[in-house]
Amino acid sequence: MNDGGGRPWAEPETYRTLLESTRAIPWKIDWASMRFAYIGPQIEPLLGWSPQSWATVQDWAERIHADDRERVVSFCVAQSQAGVDHEADYRALTAAGDYVWIRDVVHVVRDADGAVEALVGFMFDISERKRTEEHVLRLQAELEVLSYTDALTGLANRRRFDAVMAQAWAQAARTQERLALAMFDIDDFKPYNDAYGHLQGDACLKQVAGLLAAAVTAPDALLARFGGEEFALVLPRTDADGARAIVEDCRARLAVARIVHPHSRTGGILTMSAGIGSAVPAWDAPWLAFVETVDGRLYRAKDAGRNRVVGEP
Ligand code: GH3
Ligand code: MG
Ligand code: MG
Repeated sequence: MNDGGGRPWAEPETYRTLLESTRAIPWKIDWASMRFAYIGPQIEPLLGWSPQSWATVQDWAERIHADDRERVVSFCVAQSQAGVDHEADYRALTAAGDYVWIRDVVHVVRDADGAVEALVGFMFDISERKRTEEHVLRLQAELEVLSYTDALTGLANRRRFDAVMAQAWAQAARTQERLALAMFDIDDFKPYNDAYGHLQGDACLKQVAGLLAAAVTAPDALLARFGGEEFALVLPRTDADGARAIVEDCRARLAVARIVHPHSRTGGILTMSAGIGSAVPAWDAPWLAFVETVDGRLYRAKDAGRNRVVGEP
């Protein structure tokens, strides 16, 4: 067959066969009656509902997951009324009570006067794609957590410390609230490793991390492994006295744990030194300089004999 202009047209039967053998499910809705004029038989193997059971737009809306329904129905109605082709992803209810992810691609058919006459479209089964998408999102979230976590101790790592410190510093500068920082370093940890080996050294670091974490309760505080056997504690809305109380609590918990260290210069058990600082940041003051100041106090604590805390002069 052809249309007289030389263009070939297939028999209507051929179109039907084509439509009904694709994986996409064709459908047509009459705009005036809001009823299905047609839906491909492929709908039944996919969702379990017979083509005859798709009578009205209401049937379609009722078979959309409750969490998607409002968004999808109002979007599709608005687009159709405006005469705009569109597509929507949603979970369609199956006769068995499960859901299948569908992408509905909708074309608006107008009459000679430009009024909306019908909607025609295809439903695509996109559940495989959605599964892959969700899997990738989960992996991404896991990766993000890993990229901010120290593998040995499970504490925040240095990267996270830098991010949180920068953010807390900017926040304190905005609100003009006091922010405190403590830096810890285990005393004579190299001889501990030398005496017991690197693996026991690792176990010891884990134990110390756990002791410190137990002493930190403020929900917006951040305890991080700063480097090798060094830890940092960011304490938003905390002054020097508040910070010192927490740091002394940390040191007391370590003392109670009595981790044996025969080569310690501070009395046969593992100890640590700490530096503390607090500041109300000027808006343009760099946070790194503050970290350096507190780190300097940590090294003063070392020089003064270890197993102690040095705070503001
Ligand atoms: P100080 O009291 O002056 O801090 O003495 P120190 O021996 O602790 O200081 P130093 O910086 O010389 O040594 C730190 C040691 O920490 C050296 C390194 O072997 C050990 N260390 C760093 N990271 C790890 C780790 O992940 N696992 C283990 N087992 N040891 C580590
Ligand atoms: Mg060190
Ligand atoms: Mg040390």
